Amino acid sequence: MALIVQKFGGTSVGDIGRIKNVARKVKAEVDAGHQVAVVVSAMSGVTNQLVDFTKQIGASVDPREYDVVVATGEQVTTGLLAMALQELGLQARSWQGWQIPIRTDDVHAKARISAIDVEHLKNRLMDGEIAVVPGFQGLSEEGRVTTLGRGGSDTSAVALAAALKADRCDIYTDVDGVYTTDPRIVSKARKLDKITYEEMFELASLGAKVLQTRSVEMAMKHGVRLQVRTSFEDTPGTLVVNEDEIVEKELVSGIAYSRDEAKITVVGLEDRPGVASAVFGPLAEANVNVDMIIQNISQDGKTANVTFTVPEGELRRALQVLESRKETLRFDKLVSDSSVVKISVIGVGMRSHAGVAQLMFKTLAEKGINIQVISTSEIKVSVLIAEEYTELALRALHTAYELDAAVA
Ligand code: ADP
Ligand code: ASP
Ligand code: MG
Repeated sequence: MALIVQKFGGTSVGDIGRIKNVARKVKAEVDAGHQVAVVVSAMSGVTNQLVDFTKQIGASVDPREYDVVVATGEQVTTGLLAMALQELGLQARSWQGWQIPIRTDDVHAKARISAIDVEHLKNRLMDGEIAVVPGFQGLSEEGRVTTLGRGGSDTSAVALAAALKADRCDIYTDVDGVYTTDPRIVSKARKLDKITYEEMFELASLGAKVLQTRSVEMAMKHGVRLQVRTSFEDTPGTLVVNEDEIVEKELVSGIAYSRDEAKITVVGLEDRPGVASAVFGPLAEANVNVDMIIQNISQDGKTANVTFTVPEGELRRALQVLESRKETLRFDKLVSDSSVVKISVIGVGMRSHAGVAQLMFKTLAEKGINIQVISTSEIKVSVLIAEEYTELALRALHTAYELDAAVA
């Protein structure tokens, strides 16, 4: 007998018929003799609508009340699934985040899970009851409802699996596994049987939303056996594993993209020691997440332009911060552009092979795509390009790195 955590995303619980389908998936594990805790998302589209309601109230709503609103989508699906399981003759109950409780810090809208008290829940599992738990929700130290950031149900599932010391954590979504790139954009994307935690972490943090980045980080830390699969077919999914479990390592295992990027250029800064610190210090203080950075010196060597990227949602704040320091920073002007996309190629094979970045640059050049900013780390290369070339770049790179699926 194993203890399994199953997580079902928004599409899998998108309507009553699908919730009944999920109940049958859970029943199959129970019939196989396993103890099961289920984590559910809100029905697809619901969280977006709740977020939209809060925006209609005002631009700067109280984040504590924002969480009260957006956490409700998951309450609905826990109750409905518990009922659907009972209809199948199974023992099941819902637990809200505050009832377990799933403890988090008090950073509303992007809280981090600090601890889950599973003792009570575990006893009920041992009695043969299925626990239906809402993803995304937590309880702050002050006793307020928190949420974990968009896509946070993945993290709830992994955290619960770690706390319960579950044998498996299965993430059911609307694709049947992790692909070499987003299968909705590149039709030749290939499903991976296995991917390393490290590569999955990079893919997620560089834009592939199939798993929330924090869920991968947590799975890696606690050694949770994670599998991404679909609730619509009975096919094996993708296992997220340690590097030594993969025999044939690919040079590049995936390509990610993120449209949530904006570029800022500070034009005509004086080129003197301390300028970078004077620009980026205030941005850090204002909690702006700066990602890629380049600096150009003018031909006379007296002035410099600094270009960097921030998440699109932080662009306005970043511009305000810099504009308010124009006097002391003494730059000519600020130029910004949010029609950009970051494309990243990822692979642990890069550690031991040269030429990966060059192939990326050459491929994009052949398509006439201009690279605006570059950044690299041990297992990834990222470039910033104009957003209109997203599909073209992804497809060309996918072919260049020999990732295309064989034609059936
Ligand atoms: P859920 O609601 O189940 O959490 P998400 O929409 O958050 O599902 O994540 C699944 C989506 O992730 C897929 O529909 C797919 O478009 C997208 N995706 C992006 N990159 C990848 C990838 N490399 N492999 C699989 N899916 C990906
Ligand atoms: N419902 C939440 C969201 O859409 C959490 C999740 O589905 O993972 O972000
Ligand atoms: Mg998701």
